[in-house]
Amino acid sequence: MTPYPLTTEPIVEPDDAVESALRTANVLALVASVVHITGDPAVLRGPIRPRRLAFNEFDGGLAEEDQTELRRFAFGAVKAFRDRGSETPSPLEGPVVRELMDWLAAAHVDDDYAELFLEEMDLGGNDPRRIDVHSTTPPSVLVIGCGMSGLLAGIRLKEAGIPFEIVEKNDDVGGAWYENTYPGCRVDVANHYYCYSFEPNHGFSEYFSRQPELHTYFRDVMRRHGVDRHVRWRTEVERAEWDEEGLLWRITTRALDGSRSEMTAAAIISAVGQLNRPHIPDIPNLDHFAGPVFHSAQWDSTVDLRGKRVALIGAGASGFQIGPAIVDDVESLLVFQRTAQWMIPNRLYHEAVSAGSRWAMRHLPGYARWYRFLLLWQATDKMLDVVRVDPTWPGLPGSVNALSERFRQRLVQWIEEQIGDNPELMAKVIPDYAPLGKRLLQDDGSWLGCLSQEHVELVREPIVDMEEHAVVTADRRYPADVIVLATGFRANDFLFPMEIVGRGGHSLHDVWNGRPAAYLGITMPDFPNFFLMFGPGTNLAHAGSVIFQSECQMRYIGACLALLARNGGGSVEPTAAAFDDYVERWQNELSQTVWAHPSIGHSWYKAADGCVYVLSPWRLVDYWKMTATPDPTAHIVHPPRAAS
Ligand SMILES: Cc1cc2nc3c(=O)[nH]c(=O)nc-3n(C[C@H](O)[C@H](O)[C@H](O)COP(=O)(O)OP(=O)(O)OC[C@H]3O[C@@H](n4cnc5c(N)ncnc54)[C@H](O)[C@@H]3O)c2cc1C
Repeated sequence: MTPYPLTTEPIVEPDDAVESALRTANVLALVASVVHITGDPAVLRGPIRPRRLAFNEFDGGLAEEDQTELRRFAFGAVKAFRDRGSETPSPLEGPVVRELMDWLAAAHVDDDYAELFLEEMDLGGNDPRRIDVHSTTPPSVLVIGCGMSGLLAGIRLKEAGIPFEIVEKNDDVGGAWYENTYPGCRVDVANHYYCYSFEPNHGFSEYFSRQPELHTYFRDVMRRHGVDRHVRWRTEVERAEWDEEGLLWRITTRALDGSRSEMTAAAIISAVGQLNRPHIPDIPNLDHFAGPVFHSAQWDSTVDLRGKRVALIGAGASGFQIGPAIVDDVESLLVFQRTAQWMIPNRLYHEAVSAGSRWAMRHLPGYARWYRFLLLWQATDKMLDVVRVDPTWPGLPGSVNALSERFRQRLVQWIEEQIGDNPELMAKVIPDYAPLGKRLLQDDGSWLGCLSQEHVELVREPIVDMEEHAVVTADRRYPADVIVLATGFRANDFLFPMEIVGRGGHSLHDVWNGRPAAYLGITMPDFPNFFLMFGPGTNLAHAGSVIFQSECQMRYIGACLALLARNGGGSVEPTAAAFDDYVERWQNELSQTVWAHPSIGHSWYKAADGCVYVLSPWRLVDYWKMTATPDPTAHIVHPPRAAS
């Protein structure tokens, strides 16, 4: 596969078409492209400069007339570029790239972040996160799961010439983006960032794509890289046991028809996701309900919701998308919500990518890469300051520090702007906990627009019983025809229901005992050659995309496999000391955040013991550095049996 280069399609459009495209392209990415095309940074030193790059705003706070001026300037440069034959420009000098980065960010970008962003953007098209084991006899690998992470693993293993097989319980790629077909399902991290760094997609039709488009993206990527030939579909891994004599894993799989088979592999990459096993709530007499009942991740498309009384149980990230998507079809919508959720205004949430931006991504060198930078910069790590609890802060539980309080006021204002004239609804929808304590949702007004409709009712009382045709709370009976359980996933039951048995016959679930943990979220002592992607401590609630995390993890796993290959086989695992030290630092960091604060009564971030095991508290740049290469002092590499 050719990595993504700065090369673009030649421009053949006449002046008026070019001008029209530039009118709706992103003005900052446009300037970045012009600097590439001309090799001249003079525009960056002119009087017009972005003033800020805030969350979900991409125009740099530039006045309309300044934007018009920059577009006019860009038009001249793009025309000249076209007339010269759209030749790929020479790479920019490093200092110019840095100057451009600071100009776009409207701030000085620290060197460590700049390094990270340059790797993400990969202006040179070198795909720096490829792995290489430098061996003709690399270890064999079994990958469990073919969602975003498993597919990434497959691509990297294939490129490195490592023999591998992927076992996937579904019949297609995509994981979360294959299974969640509920109405309204879409990504809530901007899509031009929620895609592999080495597989940008210039064709996304919306800034926050819907599930079918994401699924198509992953399927296309899988086919282009030829990974589909390595997947055993409709097969679930039930068990894996480490064979200390043979220094390999013995794996038991079960096919859809129930037949079991055994296989072996030197190493395992578990890529089973955190959000793959639906959580079905313990509602008394749920099975007494006579109509259809289904979970959001197991949407029953044969059920026609038109004219039905629908009870939507749960309104976190999925319910929040389902409500507005079905509200116009149903006769009535009951939304049962335990706690209200914070929403951040995002006018692009349901918007189509502008025609100009799509054109520019295909035709203007550097445009798409710098657009990715804009998304990265405004979403990277800034929220960590909002989630850190100031123990002296008097505003608890509504906010956890001064920044959190300012953020809270902004979010309350967003609610007031929409339903300030409806105090009854206001009282129900303003959360009583600090922002980001639970997942922050992207919103363009559609949620409160949905709740404000006559035929919609938001119920905050707990459900105490279920009847044949009604949902029952302590003081009311709510007639319903269909129940949708938007009740999330068993996020804290990592690797459920597989049984993983490591050295000495210890089961991973017993070792974890409800406190799942892994060194860097990837490896565990006594589970040699066993690697996790999207494991404990790697989900993001403050920034970024899980794809970034998976790319970091896969590069790290590749380096561990290279250690094994250099070793001629054997096994690799973290030392107990490195593991313990990491887990202590990780939990200590998390304990100082709003996510673990006692004021957050219930959230899927919290396990039964009130601690947080799913999230990463690290700055992205720190996790990127931690996973750049295995620390030799933190690992034990055992020699292959013949040599020991
Ligand atoms: C509705 C929804 C919206 C989301 N939105 C975002 C977002 O906007 N931004 C973001 O960063 N993240 C989001 N996420 C998180 C999302 O899970 C990750 O971004 C990403 O999809 C994780 O990919 P994965 O491959 O690690 O896991 P998954 O996508 O969950 O894939 C796991 C795969 O493993 C397979 N599998 C599981 N167990 C076994 C087994 N025992 N044997 C064989 N196969 C098995 C599953 O069938 C599945 O295909 C969202 C999740 C959901 C559910």
